[in-house]
Amino acid sequence: MMPMLTIAFALLSGAADLARVFVSPEPQSAPISFYFQNRHDEQSFMLLDDTGDVRPDVLKAFSHFVRCWRTEREKQMNPRTLEIVAAISRHFGDARIEIVSGYRAKPYGAPHSKHFLGRAMDIHVDGVPAKVVAAWVWKSFRNVGVGYYPKQEFVHVDSRDLDVRWVDTSQHGESAHARFFGRLPTDELPATAPLLAYDRARLAPVATASALATAPVAQLELKSTMNAQLALSTIQGILDEQTVR
Ligand SMILES: [Zn+2]
Repeated sequence: MMPMLTIAFALLSGAADLARVFVSPEPQSAPISFYFQNRHDEQSFMLLDDTGDVRPDVLKAFSHFVRCWRTEREKQMNPRTLEIVAAISRHFGDARIEIVSGYRAKPYGAPHSKHFLGRAMDIHVDGVPAKVVAAWVWKSFRNVGVGYYPKQEFVHVDSRDLDVRWVDTSQHGESAHARFFGRLPTDELPATAPLLAYDRARLAPVATASALATAPVAQLELKSTMNAQLALSTIQGILDEQTVR
């Protein structure tokens, strides 16, 4: 049997997302310019189609572009992560994106690195401080990991189940020293937050938060589980952390 709290979480976060269902991002109108730092490679990609989805053929080409620079191995990137990166470029005036790190093959990362899964990218947005980028991603999207590296001036972005953000003040080559923060599933995103096509396709309009409000037992259990989730996301963040670029 599916645990009641799992269902409650799904309903609650689904309800909050539904409120944003009409605030879809504009279709991508121009290719995004990318620069892969370690390979000194510059290429442009029209990542999204008219509905905001990542184009399958471009996903393949882009995955090759962000392949592991140490091993030349590649893996298909997570389309949701690419949508977030496209949204970042769009939000900051169709900015050029410098890629510090895309897919990384083992052992070049922490044991649970999202880079191994093709779900993470470390980026710098041309002309925009990393702090500003990290803050915008955190307030605009759920189901994300957002790492801010002030000394190295880049932002780590990934797609994951539990939201976590961190600030890592290490210099390049130093071991990580980061502070982690979670987020409650009840924290709502601003109405202006873009809704990813990837998420839109998976939203099912089946329940509202008010339905939960009339279920005292669910509320009570939800409260303790939210605290547990905060702790869990922090632990997950620590496990995922890495300094390898
Ligand atoms: Zn990273």
